[in-house]
Amino acid sequence: MFKKILIANRGEIALRIQRACKEMGIKAVMVYSEADREAKYVKLADEAVCIGPASSTLSYLNMPAIIATAEVTDAEAIHPGYGFLSENADFAERVEKSGFVFIGPSSENIRLMGDKVSAKQAMIKSGVPCVPGSEGALPEDPKEIIRIARTVGYPVIIKAAGGGGGRGMRVVHTEAALIHAVQTTRAEAGAAFGNPQVYMEKFLERPRHVEIQILADTFKNAVWLGERDCSMQRRHQKIIEEAPAPGIPRRVIEKIGDRCAAACKKIGYRGAGTFEFLYEDGEFYFIEMNTRVQVEHPVTEMVTGVDIVQMQIRVAAGEKLPFTQRQIEMRGHAIECRINAEDPYKFTPSPGRVSLWHAPGGPGVRVDSHVYTNYFVPPNYDSMIGKIICHGDTRDQALARMRTALSETVVEGIQTNIPLHRELMADAKFIEGGTSIHYLEGWLGQHRR
Ligand code: ADP
Repeated sequence: MFKKILIANRGEIALRIQRACKEMGIKAVMVYSEADREAKYVKLADEAVCIGPASSTLSYLNMPAIIATAEVTDAEAIHPGYGFLSENADFAERVEKSGFVFIGPSSENIRLMGDKVSAKQAMIKSGVPCVPGSEGALPEDPKEIIRIARTVGYPVIIKAAGGGGGRGMRVVHTEAALIHAVQTTRAEAGAAFGNPQVYMEKFLERPRHVEIQILADTFKNAVWLGERDCSMQRRHQKIIEEAPAPGIPRRVIEKIGDRCAAACKKIGYRGAGTFEFLYEDGEFYFIEMNTRVQVEHPVTEMVTGVDIVQMQIRVAAGEKLPFTQRQIEMRGHAIECRINAEDPYKFTPSPGRVSLWHAPGGPGVRVDSHVYTNYFVPPNYDSMIGKIICHGDTRDQALARMRTALSETVVEGIQTNIPLHRELMADAKFIEGGTSIHYLEGWLGQHRR
């Protein structure tokens, strides 16, 4: 096992990885920007190195600074967390070429899955069902694009091959709007992701977002750890996640889970990963794979009892997965609410000093957050400041625990989306379960204030 790991991230996930390291007796080196100097997890670290100013381009995305820090601190491996460099194949490659272990899949696998066009092609080859659409990237010829759209059938969605984080997508309802939409998405994709390629998918009208968590080692073992329903989204960004997905028959989940594990074996995948699907009318359609730990991994940890971050570290160190598929059991139900520093109804970011932070507790309640009273939420990064995850024997119990947890939580000095979560936990349709990815935006439209 490693003696020392460098954690190339910030915020709650940096703290989460640090906790895993401590539990495993591994020393953790934190890198931080000037804006995160005061963060408690930085102070709690075995070693901490400032790698640049607040701007993430100059700090958390600064590959030479991160690799140099690993060198001077004698770290053996680098954990990238999520976001920042976690899905950057060039970074993974540079880490490995510099003699460190990248805690994640090979750079080839990151590259394959990072391009959504090549990812879909690899999935089709592995027998994973995909959303119907263009075969590969769209051609230049407008006539050909129109022909493809007619075959797929309107509405269609134009998506950037290099897209991520809910950006680089455009829904098209009519042929008249098609070519302009393709051109605009191409131009945006070129500017934002350095890759102007776009592809087309059928736009599903009321799907759910259901994803499969997998873990794979370097001995060709791959298991899937159940599913997560992440349909509560705004602007393609998840805010509530749960496991298992309400109302989907187990045999349907098992079939898709087995396909995902088989696909991992086929491409030689190692580490943790997530296959994201849209689920509609009893069918799963692959949309993309995330080759890293996800924000919502705790719901899976709570129902399976598997520590996903520790498993990432173990398989990166060359250990075998300590369980087989048969030994994975899902127990009860878990729900996660992402706590964002933002206006709960207008969604404008609300950084600043947290004058009071009181976290909830009690049976089945987990809080993953780096925030504390007097913590300053810097304006430079993502607005998510933590997660509350509640587990129960049943979905009803998990919901009841979440309501209690949210009622106990106190955050003063900044605005958060906790009032929105409180309302959603009391919403009849959400309580019923199985709402589509468009539900929250519709709800927000009706409850506008
Ligand atoms: P990103 O990498 O930016 O997260 P995804 O391909 O995972 O992009 O899509 C993000 C979200 O966009 C999905 O969860 C879903 O809400 C919506 N979406 C993507 N593709 C489709 C589609 N074909 N039909 C309907 N909604 C879609």
